[in-house]
Formats: sequence, C-alpha cells, structure tokens
Amino acid sequence: MPPKQNKIGSVVLNTPIDIIRGIGPKKLEAFKKLGIEVLEDLFYFLPRRYEDRREPVPLRDLQIGEYNCAIAKVTDVTCEFGRTNAVIFDGRSYASVVWFSEKLSFVRPNMILALYGMVDNFGGQAAFSHPKFEILRYKNQSTLIGKIFPVYPATAELSQKEISGAVDYALENFLYLLQEFLPEKIIKHHGLMSYPEAIINIHNPIDEDNFLRARNRLAFDELFLLQTGIFMRRQRNLKPGAKILQAGKLHNAFMESLPFKITRAQNRAIQEILKDVGTSWPMNRLLQGDVGSGKTLVAISAMLTAVDSGAQAVFMCPTEILAQQHYITLKKFLASLNIKIALLTGSTKLSERKKILSGLKKGTINILVGTHAVFSDDVKFDNPALFVIDEQHKFGVLQRNALISKSEAPHVLAMTATPIPRTLILSIYGDLDVSVLDELPPNRKHIETIAMQPVEFDILPRMIRQRVRSHEQIYWVCPLIEEGERALSNVTNTFERLKRILPDIKIAMLHGRMSIEEKSEVMQEFSEGHINLLVATTVIEVGVDVPNASLMIIQDAGQFGLAQLHQLRGRIGRGNVKSTCILMESQNITDEGEARIMAMVENSDGFQLAEQDLMQRGPGALCGVRQHGVTDFYVADLVRDKRILNLARRDAEILIKNDPELESEPLLKNELMRRLGEALELIITS
Ligand code: ADP
Ligand code: MG
Repeated sequence: MPPKQNKIGSVVLNTPIDIIRGIGPKKLEAFKKLGIEVLEDLFYFLPRRYEDRREPVPLRDLQIGEYNCAIAKVTDVTCEFGRTNAVIFDGRSYASVVWFSEKLSFVRPNMILALYGMVDNFGGQAAFSHPKFEILRYKNQSTLIGKIFPVYPATAELSQKEISGAVDYALENFLYLLQEFLPEKIIKHHGLMSYPEAIINIHNPIDEDNFLRARNRLAFDELFLLQTGIFMRRQRNLKPGAKILQAGKLHNAFMESLPFKITRAQNRAIQEILKDVGTSWPMNRLLQGDVGSGKTLVAISAMLTAVDSGAQAVFMCPTEILAQQHYITLKKFLASLNIKIALLTGSTKLSERKKILSGLKKGTINILVGTHAVFSDDVKFDNPALFVIDEQHKFGVLQRNALISKSEAPHVLAMTATPIPRTLILSIYGDLDVSVLDELPPNRKHIETIAMQPVEFDILPRMIRQRVRSHEQIYWVCPLIEEGERALSNVTNTFERLKRILPDIKIAMLHGRMSIEEKSEVMQEFSEGHINLLVATTVIEVGVDVPNASLMIIQDAGQFGLAQLHQLRGRIGRGNVKSTCILMESQNITDEGEARIMAMVENSDGFQLAEQDLMQRGPGALCGVRQHGVTDFYVADLVRDKRILNLARRDAEILIKNDPELESEPLLKNELMRRLGEALELIITS
C-alpha cells in the first residue's frame, strides 16, 4: 500500500504519523497516548518482548510450560459448552488443542493449522492451550509462523496488530529517512551494524545474533551521542578564568588543630582538590564518600584555601537542619582562626539577612553556609571562588546552575554520600572529576543490622533502657508525621506511646512540620545529650552527626528506599561504641521492601547498595535526573552496557579532541543536536 499520495514528497522524521493510511484523528490520539506522534517515534517504539515462532516443532517434542509453534492436520473437532477441542496430527504423533470460551465451528477435520501458543499439561498430555492459529491453504505462506515476532505494549484503543502494522509500514516506506551518522571509522572499528539495519532488526530480528547486534548498535548510538555532547561542551565551556587558590596560614593551622589523624583517603582527596584549585581552570569535582567517611573535613580544607587566597567560599546544604549543624561544626573547628562565617537560610531574620547580604557583597564574610535561600537573586558576593555542594544529589541540576552562575568561573566541589555508580557518573556528569573516600575513620565499628517483625516490638524498650544506662542515644524513625491515609507508623503517636512505655526516659520528636526554631532547639538538645531518644521522620536522613547515638530503630522499614535506609543507618556508628540498627517490617510489606531490608542486613557498603538500587529502580530515580531526559535511553542500559559505555566514551573523547566542533562530521553533529537538544544544555552546564 503506497503512502497517502498528497502528503508524500516532503516526508521527514518529524512528519506526523497520520501520513500512514488508516491512521485518522482518532487513532492519532490513541498513538499519542503511547508517546508516538511522528514517524521517528514509530522507529523507536521498541517491542516489549519477542515471540520466537521460527520453527514449528514436531508434536511429540512440545514442551509443557513453554510457547511452541506447530503445523498439523486436524483429525477431530468438538465444540461444546462454548469451548472448542481439537485433536491434531503431524504425521507421527497426536496432540490436543483447547480454545476456551470460543466456538470455532469453522475449524474442520483435515484442515492444516499453523498454531502458536502456550503448551499446558492436560491430564498428563501436552496440549495447546488457547493458541493463536491460522488455517493454511495450499501454497499459502503462514503469517503466524516462520520468524521472530515483536510484541508491542498494546492498549485498549490500539491492538497489537494496529501497532505492528504502523511500525511495519514505517519500516517499509520510510526507512530511507534514517541516515547513517556515525563516523565510518567507528563503525568499522567496532564492526557495528548499520543504522537502518539496526532499526529493522530491533523490530524484526532474523535471529538472536542479529538482535544483539542491532541492540548493541542502538545502545552505542545513545551512549556515544551523549558522551560526544558532554565532551563537546566541556571543550567549549572550560576556559581558564577561575581564581587560583592556594593553601596558606589558615588551612595549615586548621589541619594542625585537628584532634585526630586524617585518613589516607581524606589526604588523597585534599591533595587532588589542592591541585585542581591551584590552576585557573575551574575545578569540577565530585567527592564521593560513604556516610561518615569525613567529607566535611575535606570541604573545610578546600574552603580555607579560598579564604587563604583572599576569596569567599560557599557551603550549600539541602536542609536547614544540616546547614545549622554544619554552621555549628565550622564555628567550632575554626574558632581559633580569624575568619567570619555566616549562616543564611529561609528562616534567617530580615535584619540579620540584610547584614549578611551586605557582608557578602563587601567581602567581610569569608564563608557562607546556606540552603536554597542562597539562590535568591539579591544574594551577591564580592569574590566567590569556591562552591561546595553538600549532598549534591538532593539538588536539582537547575539549582546547581543557579548557584554556579553567581560567579564567572567558580571552582565547584560537589559531595555525595549516596554513592553514584561510576557508570552513571560518566554518563550523566561526564565532565566531573571524582575523588573517593573509600575508607572510614579508624574508630568506626561495624553497625549490626537486624530485621525484626512487628510482634517483637516488646523487646525494644529493654534495648532502649540498656543504651540509655550506658549514656548512649537512640533514633526512632517513622515514615509519617501524623496518622495518615496509609496504615503506617507516625511520629506523633509513636512519641506518645513511647513516653507511656518509657516514662523514665527523655524523649523528643523531630519532623518537617515543626518550626525551624523548634527543630534546631531539639537537635541542639539531642546533640548535647539532654535528650535520650529522638522520634523523627527522615528529616535526620542527611548529614546529622551525633557520634553518641548508637541505636536506630526504623519502623515500616520496607517503605524506604535503599539509599535512604543506608543514609539513615549512617547516623549511627559514628562514635566508638558498638551500634545497632533495627529494621522493623510492616505486616503488609511488599516483596521489594523485603528485598531492600535483606540487602541492608547483608550489606554495609554504600557502593554495593547503590549498585543494587540502580538495578531495582533505574538510574533516573537514583540521581533525580529522569525528568531532564538525560538518562531516558530507549535501548542503552547503564547496568548492562558498561562495556559499550566505556568504548563510546573513549571514541567520543578522541573525536572531540581532534575536531571540537565536529566540522568534519556534519551528519553526526546534526543527529546530536536533533536528539539531545535541550537535554544537552542541561547536562553540559551542570
Ligand atoms: P560525612 O562524610 O558523612 O559527611 P562527616 O564529615 O560528618 O561525614 O564526619 C563524620 C564524623 O567523623 C564527624 O564527627 C567527624 O568529625 C569525624 N571525622 C572525620 N574525619 C575523621 C578522622 N580522620 N578520624 C576520626 N574522625 C573523623
Ligand atoms: Mg556530610
């Protein structure tokens, strides 16, 4: 069937799919719901799975529990109670076929059928259960058997047949729109399938091998384009112009004043940072370190090089509690040094805020600790040279940009305790350098982690009393603040209940609906040891550092994500007493929740947990970048395709080094802009 005549001629990848005969306004809407609007979408609407219907099998080889196809003659048919039973024969053996709730009176003895369907066990015999079928007539080709069939995710409004019809139509008539864009050298070097061929084979693979080659080619495309974009922009953006920072008196005094020896990992990170900030090329470094690995100290060292060099540093935190805590820590650590530190958050009083803004502008404030409040337009600096972003995964890419735009060419140190697997860093933040704190301070003890059933609740009060007797402190975490729609534990009721059960113990609560004054008062009291037990929501998740806390009880633990559980657990085991984390299951825990709890019990390593999280939830959820479309790959899978990613990255780097603007590869450049467009702006400037 030729395309609708009137529209042909100027067909492009962006041509709406109603160019296809049979797709009118109504179907167009239905396709739109599947995300298919233009021809290109059809090419990339990938099968959810495939049915291997290449080879009919002899009836005696039918495999119970599998999908099989066969060609056989009908020897007997009965239709009763609305179902149809047939006996078929392939010249050697017999098998039966059942179609439920279907009266197929047109199926008659001696007809040859092609069948495809699940083979079930019917009274010890293999039988086709409700198979697809067609009647084969003399010389007719089977449309049911003979190849691998794609299965698309159909909807109520669009059948499998309609979708595959549209895809096939596009493949037959418009494949010429897909132009090879990869440099020939790269195709040859990796033996890649051509682009159009890969699109054909991802829909209609000839065999497993072809399918794999097609898939790998398309995965390579996605990863290679992204990496090329990253390197291209890096080349464009990275210009010298940052202030050169050097460690001086303040930095050295701080390092000497530390009450403990820094770890080798901390030392390495500090040296890497010193090297970066010691040039006029802006630093863009990610400091990864498991909870408790001592990232704050590394950040302070970096900030002091800025102050030593006559510039300002900013320490960004995702929550007010954390900002306050860092502010207190910094004041304490830097008390003997003559520097001015300020705290700016959403609840900073107006008069105080005015003073801070003026101090920042004049340059009398050396270090600013702040929350999102720092993004505000009226916050201006005199000489900002370094931005530290703590718990950087809690910030959006756009927010990061807003911050960094406050300086022409700032050095940036992003820190995270939610370890992002290396593959993901490369693919999303391809232009970041990474320092890793792969070592905990030596006084740390392994945190014992125990899964507990709700019925075991009764042993908790004794455990709590024991800890309090030895002057240790306890966190109790609930998912909700108050009684909510979902039957989960909440801070308010738990607080009341624990007060009743443990009248002799000082208990307080902490949650996001309290005012910042209340919150900081409670936090202060807890860190000074005046409170024994803190019932809290996940507000304590990031950064809170009270080394004396040694027991954490997490109720309804299956509700929380793996990264979150690991972060929460990281609030204990910070001192030198043995710490215990108790994960209480809910009655109605899901399988995934159960799996997360088991992972926590078995594993204390943040990186390994993150890899598991990546597999369970996908990269987007982990980094909060899904909404930007950066990791919305059609084919590529950052877990499976590590090897391809590395190849693509290397090729992209070499290519851009030799030809930064892709002048010799106009087709590639075109494809890059077309596919990544806006997303590119985002990754690149982040
Ligand atoms: P995180 O990496 O989770 O941000 P912090 O910076 O909050 O960790 O450090 C956790 C605790 O470890 C803090 O109390 C800090 O003072 C302490 N600490 C940091 N470095 C060392 C070290 N080298 N030896 C002993 N304790 C350290
Ligand atoms: Mg921290």
